[in-house]
Amino acid sequence: MTHLFIADLHLSPDHPRLVRGFLDLLEQYKDNNFTKPTQLYILGDWFNAWIGDDYTAPWLSEIVEHLKQFTQAGNKVYFQVGNRDFALGQKFLNQFNGQLLPDEFTLNIANKKFRIEHGDALCTDDVSYQRFRKIIRNPILLGILKSTPLSFRQKLANGFRKKSHASQQNKTYEIMDVNQQAVEKALSQVDVLIHGHTHKPMIHDVNGKPRIVLGDWREKTSEAMILEVDENANYQLIQWKIV
Ligand code: MN
Repeated sequence: MTHLFIADLHLSPDHPRLVRGFLDLLEQYKDNNFTKPTQLYILGDWFNAWIGDDYTAPWLSEIVEHLKQFTQAGNKVYFQVGNRDFALGQKFLNQFNGQLLPDEFTLNIANKKFRIEHGDALCTDDVSYQRFRKIIRNPILLGILKSTPLSFRQKLANGFRKKSHASQQNKTYEIMDVNQQAVEKALSQVDVLIHGHTHKPMIHDVNGKPRIVLGDWREKTSEAMILEVDENANYQLIQWKIV
């Protein structure tokens, strides 16, 4: 059993090479003759934006088709939402037997507890973002949003993206990173913490426990840091080449 962790792919129709890189990854980890299946964990910001599970487009259908083949070959797909694709739900994942996980989830591998999350909740120094997150992630508001027409949500998403981009220009490097106390709290009941979001791939030592940060996918550098954990809980950050 291979556990594969990825995050921050930011897939969109504007970056077909990233989409291709993801399809290549599925292909690479798909075939195992049912002897060594892959459990793929996508820790948020899989898509650059998500306006609802009712959104359809050819580029997305191609991804779904490959995901179907991936799971039909005996592999599993798990997803946690990120700050960009928090509206992605079980309905979309049902198309290929994927499973939505809660924002914070602990899995056991070889009697070791691995906590996984997107990582934005750990950035508690970014007070204005945390305030925004609390509002936008409210289930009632999200329910109302989901009932609005697709075209309205498209416009809304475009507006948010511009606003988010503008506000990030003014933030310091530190405030965009995780808060040490938030990290220690997240690690208090587990052995390992895995997250993305900060785009700073690295294995940190937090009082003897690993905090593993996944990399973001980018066309410029043509690579992404992804994490493999084997059945004995041995872990390794590896470089995924985007061709
Ligand atoms: Mn993120």
